[in-house]
Amino acid sequence: MGRFDSLKEQAYQGNMDLYHHGLLLFTFGNVSVIDRQAGVVAIKPSGVPYPSLHPQDIVVLDLQGHIVEGVLKPSSDTPTHLVLYQHFTGIGAVAHTHSPYATAWAQAGRAIPVLGTTHADYLPVPVPCTAFMEDEAIQKAYEIETGHQITRTFATLSEQEIEMVLVAGHGPFTWGKTVGSAVHNSVLLEELAKIALWTAQINPDVKPLKKTLIEKHHRRKHGLNAYYGQAES
Ligand SMILES: [Zn+2]
Repeated sequence: MGRFDSLKEQAYQGNMDLYHHGLLLFTFGNVSVIDRQAGVVAIKPSGVPYPSLHPQDIVVLDLQGHIVEGVLKPSSDTPTHLVLYQHFTGIGAVAHTHSPYATAWAQAGRAIPVLGTTHADYLPVPVPCTAFMEDEAIQKAYEIETGHQITRTFATLSEQEIEMVLVAGHGPFTWGKTVGSAVHNSVLLEELAKIALWTAQINPDVKPLKKTLIEKHHRRKHGLNAYYGQAES
């Protein structure tokens, strides 16, 4: 038993769950999970196809990116994950995919507006999209700058309220308190992106959902007086 076996197992499960949800093709995408007490992050290795991934392949690094456990090279997006963990101190896991609908909005450089109650149920605001990166940032430390691009976008937003972002020209990143919620958010984002795209195709002049309806739906699920689902006993 290695010291970080359970953390590696969580990261492995998160990666495989996203894969089984059909959000990851070939070696695209990566999920990581952090143990804040130990100060380490477990992430998918670079370039390993999901069907041949094993828990022991997961790489464990400290927050400076030094490998603590593992023989494979970590995902090339690791520096982006580390920037997110450093800035968003309450998050426990990060997921990155190139799932097609969310990626299409990211490539278009467009935030996903709240067009219906499916979106409002989870999020009362649009899914934000970063600005496109400057040449210097791309050439310098691209993956770290990708992280900064996200944290800059959240300068005026709450990463606790909005657990997802589109990186312009690239694709989505999601996070959550647990690896399960980070994965859930990736699946959810893809669904919201798909529905919003179809809506905008059917009616290119569609307006964002009325504020009253957004608030009604969001509060029914999340507010102090939420009444969706079964009461907890
Ligand atoms: Zn990517």
